[in-house]
Amino acid sequence: MRQLYEQILVDNEKRRFYAKCETSGEKRYSVKLPLSCRGEELLQLLEEGCAGGLRQKKYNSAKARAVQDLARYFNQCRKCGKWVCDEMFDPDIMECKQCNIRRV
Ligand SMILES: [Zn+2]
Ligand SMILES: [Zn+2]
Repeated sequence: MRQLYEQILVDNEKRRFYAKCETSGEKRYSVKLPLSCRGEELLQLLEEGCAGGLRQKKYNSAKARAVQDLARYFNQCRKCGKWVCDEMFDPDIMECKQCNIRRV
């Protein structure tokens, strides 16, 4: 099953980490990108884990905080493994609403 970590991206304009619901596409923003981590080329290296040094450390810990924060708003479907927002999730059966098309 995929981790929420893999679903967390950086919004270049807002300079924040965010996660997107895989079903509705809704974005939820979280912690800010550290000052030393800004810049498009640098960001690419950081995302690949190749920037090294203090910047990489700062980026990694900021991203870890974003994961913790965003985990409160996303749920993992036990069937397809997608992380979706509360609206797209049925907590009774732990499945997303795409997997669980209700038989009414
Ligand atoms: Zn959603
Ligand atoms: Zn699902």
